[in-house]
Amino acid sequence: MPLADLYGQTLARERLLNMVVRNRVPQTLLFAGPEGVGKNLAARMFAQALSCRQRVDGDACGSCPACIQIERKLYPDMLIVTAEKQQIKIGQVAEIREFISFAPLVGERRIVIIEDAHKLNNVAANALLKTLEEPFPTVLFILLSHRHSLLLATILSRCLLLPFVSLHKAVVVEILEGLELASEYGEITAAGIADAAAWSGGSMGRALFFLREENLLWFSDFIGKFSRLPQATLSQALDLAEMAAQFKEREVLFFIMRSFLHDTLLAARGLYGSMREDDMRIETPFWSEAVLAFAALPESLLMSIRHRLSAVEKAQGINVNLRLAFDAVFSSIVTGRDKIQLAGVL
Ligand SMILES: [Zn+2]
Repeated sequence: MPLADLYGQTLARERLLNMVVRNRVPQTLLFAGPEGVGKNLAARMFAQALSCRQRVDGDACGSCPACIQIERKLYPDMLIVTAEKQQIKIGQVAEIREFISFAPLVGERRIVIIEDAHKLNNVAANALLKTLEEPFPTVLFILLSHRHSLLLATILSRCLLLPFVSLHKAVVVEILEGLELASEYGEITAAGIADAAAWSGGSMGRALFFLREENLLWFSDFIGKFSRLPQATLSQALDLAEMAAQFKEREVLFFIMRSFLHDTLLAARGLYGSMREDDMRIETPFWSEAVLAFAALPESLLMSIRHRLSAVEKAQGINVNLRLAFDAVFSSIVTGRDKIQLAGVL
């Protein structure tokens, strides 16, 4: 696919096309931005535009052998590196070194795409750094990351950073409408697409997730219960903590909780609803009602919940017991309310 078909990333698209047209391509690019907004796709589109044998207006044709091989991830001058078991390890960096030690086979350059580059472990990151420090005139590295602040500063300083942004809801709807979804998702209604786009927060990955009705129902149930925690009993809070801890799609779970706390803080400050121009936020009547209900808690307690949830999110993966962590945060909403009531503030 040509770069012209990259939806919702005007700035990144224009800069990439400009590099192709002027044939000025840096050795290392970093595509940074949220998950599911087109970074992987853009990397392959850029590889196509650079490698295409019959460019049209400085963009990929989409039909020559290079374009087709890149689309199918079978192009001999392209290597895609993906984390194995949540890590990119030294062996994979050794593969990269081997791959770039050979001249391009068919094109003008060899292209290395490193997905989720923040998953490089320490040893691998240092080995990659050494590689990036050497000049390779016929190699292009494209690092992709939704948490690029976790990359070594020394690696970051070697990259030209291209920011990717959350997709506008209308763009999410447009993409969903253009996809062949029936075989995997069954009958999709316009309302289903609108809901998925509303809950996606501008990420295609999450939009596809919320296209499944059971996921939408799970989160409606979860957010409904979460928003009622200020009136709940301790045992209801612990039940909800268990529900959250057992949920497999952690990225979505934390994203939704983060968005919810963000919105409740705005509401507590009387700003919710005045920020409607931000078309990437979650906004459904159900969501707004839940936000406004929860925002009755004092701002200091809301800040503390947000802070604690963000600490749990950062700690996942380093052996944190999620059940206990959620227990602590969710029950603090109940006990925090009690303390405040005792103090006569509420
Ligand atoms: Zn082509």
